[in-house]
Amino acid sequence: MHGRLPHALLFHGRPGIGKLHLAQVLAQSLLCEHKSKQSLACGACPACIWFAAGNHPDFRLVQPEALAPAQDEAEPAEGAEETRKKASKQIKIDQIRALSDFLNLGAHRNGYRVVLIYPAESMNPGSANALLKSLEEPSAGVVFLLVSHQPSRLLATVRSRCHALALTLPPRELSLRWLQQQGSKATPATLAFAGDAPLEAAALPDEEADTRRRLFDLLSQANTSALGLADFCQRLQPGLVVDWMLKWTYDLIALASKSRARYNIDQEKKLDLLAQRMPLLQLLRFYSALSSLRAISEHPLNARLFFDDLFISYKEIG
Ligand SMILES: [Zn+2]
Repeated sequence: MHGRLPHALLFHGRPGIGKLHLAQVLAQSLLCEHKSKQSLACGACPACIWFAAGNHPDFRLVQPEALAPAQDEAEPAEGAEETRKKASKQIKIDQIRALSDFLNLGAHRNGYRVVLIYPAESMNPGSANALLKSLEEPSAGVVFLLVSHQPSRLLATVRSRCHALALTLPPRELSLRWLQQQGSKATPATLAFAGDAPLEAAALPDEEADTRRRLFDLLSQANTSALGLADFCQRLQPGLVVDWMLKWTYDLIALASKSRARYNIDQEKKLDLLAQRMPLLQLLRFYSALSSLRAISEHPLNARLFFDDLFISYKEIG
């Protein structure tokens, strides 16, 4: 039905465009026992029902602990939040080793066995090497689906064992229509802010948009001080603010170069006025400084100092 399927597929592309969803759809359709002519899963057979419930015996999802949903959400155990914070962001070698029985014993349902690894770049070198062995000597009927936002961070030997599929952004109109069908209130401006990635746009919280707009108002007022900006951001996640500032500065650079805003399309007038008095070279320097800040923004030693420094540098432009 699927013709000769490669035993390992690598879906790659930027976050928020639906790679994981596509890999899940493919996994379900491989496992479905009552496929349609187009090889789509029926959604009703026992295999589909198990898959939807997350317990199909011939399917394994391998992801970092930090991404796995909490065990008992209704009644979080004492210290559950702490445990969650410490949860690993890597796919550990034990998780790959734990697949060996699954890979070496036959399928429960006489069909495919599917392993989905997400995001594949979170495998540490040990895990990647352990996986490599399975990729080099594939067991019959096993299909690996690797999903990656940053395929360049994968071991080259792992990459070369996979059939790679690059996924690109859907056209804006199509994404907007899809968002509406999902009941999302996302506007063209929301979608643009999400870099045209529809899943990312759908996931942007409404209240965040208000805060962001208020910050952008402050950024465009000449009389707001750096410390005033830092005050405003006090309660916000440094990583989030860096992300907003990267997009804001990207747009300033675009407008200073006589191009159009890419992310903040609803703020173009404000950005254009600002860009007229901000030297391009300094904007580029600030952008590059922001990019390096991003690396430490998840755990700055002192959030207040972090914001002070960031906005003092911003105010020094122009
Ligand atoms: Zn089915």
